[in-house]
Amino acid sequence: MTDKIIIFDTTLRDGEQSPGYSMNTAEKLHFAAQLEKLRVDVIEAGFPSSSAGDFEAVQMIAHKVSNVEVAALARTSKEDIDAAWGAIKEAAHPRIHIFIATSDIHLQHKLRMRRDQVISKAVEAITYARRFTDNIEFSAEDGSRSDRDFLCTIFEAAISAGATTVNLPDTVGYAIPSEFAELVAYVKEHTPNIGKAILSVHCHNDLGLATANTLASINAGARQVEVTVNGIGERAGNTSLEEIVMALHTRRGYLDFFTDINTKEIYPSSHLLVMITGIPVQPNKAIVGANAFSHEAGIHQDGVLKHRTTYEIMEPTTIGLETNRLVLGKHSGRHAFKDRLRGLGYDLPDQEIDKIFQRFKELADKRKEIVDDDIEALVAEEILRVPDIFKLRYLNVVGGTDAIPTATVQLEIDGKVEQDAGFGVGPIDATFNTIAEITGTHSKLLHFSIDSLTSGTDAQGIVTVQLEEDGIKTLGKGNDPDIIVASAKAYINGLNRLEHLRRNSHSEKTA
Ligand SMILES: [Zn+2]
Repeated sequence: MTDKIIIFDTTLRDGEQSPGYSMNTAEKLHFAAQLEKLRVDVIEAGFPSSSAGDFEAVQMIAHKVSNVEVAALARTSKEDIDAAWGAIKEAAHPRIHIFIATSDIHLQHKLRMRRDQVISKAVEAITYARRFTDNIEFSAEDGSRSDRDFLCTIFEAAISAGATTVNLPDTVGYAIPSEFAELVAYVKEHTPNIGKAILSVHCHNDLGLATANTLASINAGARQVEVTVNGIGERAGNTSLEEIVMALHTRRGYLDFFTDINTKEIYPSSHLLVMITGIPVQPNKAIVGANAFSHEAGIHQDGVLKHRTTYEIMEPTTIGLETNRLVLGKHSGRHAFKDRLRGLGYDLPDQEIDKIFQRFKELADKRKEIVDDDIEALVAEEILRVPDIFKLRYLNVVGGTDAIPTATVQLEIDGKVEQDAGFGVGPIDATFNTIAEITGTHSKLLHFSIDSLTSGTDAQGIVTVQLEEDGIKTLGKGNDPDIIVASAKAYINGLNRLEHLRRNSHSEKTA
């Protein structure tokens, strides 16, 4: 009989907590809805006790999503479990995910606990969580570097206490496929009550082996895999969802397993994550990279033209990559535009469509063709942003070989128009200096990147900045065919987010 592999997606938890990938609540909600369309089995929505913002996001996702389990992460303390349950109690299918480290390295240096104390802690926590739900996952952090017999002992105790899933993470990305498969098989064989729970794995990609380790563990008996879209996650990332799903799908004759994933939503999910975070996927990334389905070598092109299967093991349409994309232009009406938005998965209220349509018209005046990527960029910019405190009204820059780079900027701040002019080493520096002067902010620019959304010199530039002020870090994003304008928008978006975060944390403190 073919076994189902449970897809546990942790893009919004492990992925979101990695540098540069933080999302606000609206963005997380939007992405969770996409994960539901992708038909993952479990969405790990966050770590509610880590911050008020995380709690709120998990709670809203729990409300919104109905066909997928929603998991919340917790350490073994009552406070953590209370926060996790508080955030997911209204989910249609809630899951509490409790973890504690089990390797001697972590026991000695981090927890300063003995093995028997760790077992009692885990059992106590699971027993407490059972008051709220029967759906409990237990993770042995740093499992791959833990003593294998101790792993079996703690899993046995966890299952007896009521854990329905036990997860074996390769937290530090240290395992080798054959070794990890052996460990999974050992745990399966030496944990007496393992038949009462699902065995799960959670791999990291520090040695580039996350996918290989996860696949090997499936063969050895794991039936849940913890993955992220585009493989984002701590350090080198987590196992990538699309790689596991497409490996099982493409090699189903060899690997006798299936998932419930709707593969046609793989590319849209990957793409939405890029849109939200502003961080592109490496071009040669398996499955979802820009080059994954392009054939450059003449001999390959010739083969593919004669018969696809000569050099292509998957069809781009299987992952939802449409090869003939509909192009809109300046004569496209609101109706066609709305249809296209719907086709891309955005069912938006009329007033939001009006706002984006307005921006679309402006863009269509400057460009001949507007493709899906452009439309999604507009959606990301218009819908997924925090309320503006600072708004860009006017920007004029002077630059070039003999000019002193100068920027004249007009901003609207809480409804009042302010303007100034300033210099810099280049036009972007001049623009940022002037905006900082007008807004009276003193944030540090930690990161600046610019990408073009599509090919061609008239493509939209997508600028991502990372800012830090008073210990608060945030991203800012902006799109425009003019890269200086895109940079200004990204910088102002970042300042808006900083201000938003600052006002929120202030109201939390005073509440
Ligand atoms: Zn992890």
